[in-house]
Amino acid sequence: MTQVTTKPTGSNTSSPESFDVVVVGAGFAGLYMLHRLRGLGLTATVIEAGDGVGGTWYWNRYPGARCDIESMEYQYGFDEELPREWKWSERYATQPEILRYVNHVADKFDLRRDIRFETRVVSAHYNEESGRWDVTTDRGDNISAQYCIMATGCLSSPKQPEYPGLESFKGSWYHTGQWPHESVDFTGQRVAVVGTGSSGIQSIPQIARQAAHLTVFQRTPNFSVPARNGPIDPELEQRMKANYKAFREEARESPAGILATQRQKMDQAILDVPLDEARAEFERRWDYGGFVIGGAYTDIALNPEANEIWAEFVRSKIRETVKDPETAELLCPRDYPFGTKRLCVDTEYFETYNRDNVTLIDLRATPIETITENGLRTTAREYEFDSIVFATGFDAMTGALSKIDIRGRDGLALTDKWEAGPRTYLGLQVAGFPNLFTITGPGSPSVLTNMIVSIEQHVDWITDCLSYLGDHELDTIEATTEAEDAWVDHVNQVASFTLYPRANSWYIGANVPGKPRVFMPYIGGLNLYSEKCQQVADAGYEGFGLSSHKPAPASA
Ligand code: FAD
Ligand code: NAP
Repeated sequence: MTQVTTKPTGSNTSSPESFDVVVVGAGFAGLYMLHRLRGLGLTATVIEAGDGVGGTWYWNRYPGARCDIESMEYQYGFDEELPREWKWSERYATQPEILRYVNHVADKFDLRRDIRFETRVVSAHYNEESGRWDVTTDRGDNISAQYCIMATGCLSSPKQPEYPGLESFKGSWYHTGQWPHESVDFTGQRVAVVGTGSSGIQSIPQIARQAAHLTVFQRTPNFSVPARNGPIDPELEQRMKANYKAFREEARESPAGILATQRQKMDQAILDVPLDEARAEFERRWDYGGFVIGGAYTDIALNPEANEIWAEFVRSKIRETVKDPETAELLCPRDYPFGTKRLCVDTEYFETYNRDNVTLIDLRATPIETITENGLRTTAREYEFDSIVFATGFDAMTGALSKIDIRGRDGLALTDKWEAGPRTYLGLQVAGFPNLFTITGPGSPSVLTNMIVSIEQHVDWITDCLSYLGDHELDTIEATTEAEDAWVDHVNQVASFTLYPRANSWYIGANVPGKPRVFMPYIGGLNLYSEKCQQVADAGYEGFGLSSHKPAPASA
C-alpha cells in the first residue's frame, strides 16, 4: 500500500529558532489559528505532518468520503467574503471539494508561507527556566516558542488493525484515514471492508459498485440515517450568503453548532406525544435526511424508554430496506441506545446489502483470528481477497497528543498525567502545562458538534486570551489544578445524566484496547460551554494563573 510518509529523523543540534507561537497541525483549526495570530502581530510557525493543508480532508481520501454536516454550515464563518465567494456543489460536499475549499482559504490568506509541511512534531517540552516551549520535529527542527498550540485534531490518529499476520498479506491493504493520494481501482477485485462506522458506511456502497465481490466484516452494527444528498436549496443559500455572520452566531448559540431549522426544533418529550404522531414526525425527518432525526424530541439522550422508540424506528427502516431478513437483523443495532455512538449519515448503505456481490459477516459470531497471505481467517473459515480496507477508526481525541512527547512542569509527561483519562480545564489547557493550548481538546464539546463552529470558538478564545496577556504585560497562563478538577467533575457528571456512557464508543475510548474508559467530550452543549468560556475570560481568566515569567537568577 502506498502511504504518505514524513521525512526521516534529523539531528537536533542547531540553536533553536524562536517564535511567539508554534502551532501543530494545518487542518481547519491550525489554519484559522495562524490567521488570527498574524492579526495579533505575533510570529508563528505551523508544523504539519502531511504535504498539504486540510487535516482530515487531506488524509481521508477513501471513496465516498464527504461531510455529514451540511456544506453551508460546514465551512468557516470568520470572514464574510468566504461564504459568499465559495459555491458548494451539493448539500454534503465530497472530500475533494472540501480539500479544494481549504486550499482556497490557505491561498486567500497566504497561509502556506508560515507552514512547514511533511514535518512531524516529536516532542514539546516546557522549559521552566526560559518559560518557553522547546519543540523538536522529525526533520531536526529545534524551535523555542512562548506558546504552543496543539491543533492536532480529534480524529487524526488512525487506529491500526491489531490482527497478527498483516505483514504476510500479499494483496493491498488500506486504512480509510490514510488513503493513498492516487486513486484506487477495485474493479474486478475481491475486497474486504473491516469496520462499519461512518467511514465504512460511506465507502461500502462505493466499493461495492466497483468490486467483483465485497465482503463486509461487521463487529457492531451502527445506526445510520439517509443523507438525502442533492442540490442546496437556492433560497437558503442566498439568505446565508447575504448574512453568514448571523447564521454562524445562531449556530454557536445552539447545543451542537448547527442551525435550528424548523425540523430541528424540539420542545416536547416523545413520551408526552401519541406514538402515531411521533412516528409521523420521524418519517418527515427521515425524508428530509441527515442529523435532524435526532433532534425531534427532548428525551432521546436521557430516557431509555424514549430512546428505544427512536431505535426501533430506525430498525424498522433497516428491515424495510434490506431484503434478506437474516442480513437485516444482523444490521440492526441492539446493544446500545440510539445516538450514543456517533450517528452515521449514509447514501444507500443498507440498500447495498441487496446487491448480489455483497456479503455481510458477523464478527461477533466469528471473530477474525489472523490476516493470512491470501486474505483473512475468522474462527469459521479462511477468506481470500485482493484488497482489504480497514475502516477501523481512530485513537480519538487523545491519540495525536499521546504520540508527541509532551512534558510540562517537572518533566511530567502528558501521557502520565492522563494515565487514567484526559484531564483539562475547558478542553483548552492542562494544569502543569503552562502556555500549552489544545484546540477542541478533550473536555470541550468538539466532536459532539459541528466541528468548525467549535474550532472557531476555541481559536477566538485563545486569540482573545493572548491579546489580554500582551495588553497586561503577562506572558504565562496556566490552568489551576482546582479549576481543572472541578471541570473534569462537571464533564463527568453531565455525561452521567445521559445515556452516552452506555455505549462502547470511541467517545469513551472503548475502541482502543487498554485505553482508559472516560467520556471525553463535554456533552453540556456548545451554547452553555461558550457562555462559560466567556464568563471565565470576563472574570480575568478565572481558574487560570496568569503571570509574567521571571528567569531563574543566574547561579554564582
Ligand atoms: P485535523 O483536520 O485532524 O488536522 C490535524 C492536523 O494535525 C493533521 O493534518 C495532522 O497531520 C496534523 N498533526 C497531528 N499530529 C501532528 C504532529 N505530531 N506533527 C505534525 N502534524 C501533526 N466533523 C464535522 O463537524 N462534520 C463532518 O461532516 C465531519 N466529517 C468528518 C469526516 C471524516 C472522514 C473524519 C475523519 C472526520 C470528520 N469530522 C467532521 C471531524 C473533523 O476531524 C473536523 O471537522 C475537522 O476537520 C478537524 O479539524 P482540525 O484542524 O481540528 O483537525
Ligand atoms: P469508527 O466510527 O470508530 O468505526 C470503526 C469501525 O471499525 C467500527 O465499526 C468498529 O467496531 C470497527 N472496528 C474497529 N476495530 C476493529 C477490529 N479490530 N475488528 C473489527 N472491527 C473493528 O471510525 P470511523 O468510521 O472512521 O469514524 C470515526 C469518526 O470520524 C466518526 O464517528 C465521525 O465522527 C467521523 N467521520 C465522519 C464521517 C462523515 O460522515 N462525515 C465519515 C467518517 C468519519 P466497534 O463499533 O465494535 O468498535
